[in-house]
This record gives sequence, C-alpha cells and structure tokens, in this order.
Amino acid sequence: MTRRCAWCRKQMGEKCPKCGSDRCAEIAKVRGKTPVYGCDECRFVFREGQGGITHGMCDSCMREAKARRSSPVTGSLARTPGKGGPEK
Ligand SMILES: [Zn+2]
Ligand SMILES: [Zn+2]
Repeated sequence: MTRRCAWCRKQMGEKCPKCGSDRCAEIAKVRGKTPVYGCDECRFVFREGQGGITHGMCDSCMREAKARRSSPVTGSLARTPGKGGPEK
C-alpha cells in the first residue's frame, strides 16, 4: 500500500496492506517490474501499490501544518507546500 502525502503528493514509502505497518523493506527489484516488499511485522509479501494508496502527511507538511495552526489565521488562502523539494 503506497503511502502518499495528501498535501504535496510526495511518496513516503510503502505500508503493509495486511497489518498496516510501515516497517516494510524492498526485497526484490526486477527491472521493469513492480518492486516487491516484505513486511517486517507479519512477514506479508506485497507488491508496490498493492491495496491502494493511503494518504498521510509528510514531515515537512506536518511542520507546515503545525506552524500554520499556531500562527494567526491568515484567511482561507492556503500556502502551497512542496516548493524547493522535501527537506530531510
Ligand atoms: Zn507533504
Ligand atoms: Zn504486515
């Protein structure tokens, strides 16, 4: 299950479609084929994107959301995140 940021659409990795754990590691990489992941928790093996997409929030958007919440509201005009790329 692909984890994607609902705000900036950045991909945040894979999540196990069975138990929901994000402790997944790519176990097989074949060129031209969908990568295969293995869940560390329940040992479930799944393909990238299997089970659909789950939306969350990446670290930078989370920070932005927090900053926005603590600062006085400046109308409904939302600043578009995603400029300059994600910071690690
Ligand atoms: Zn984001
Ligand atoms: Zn699992």
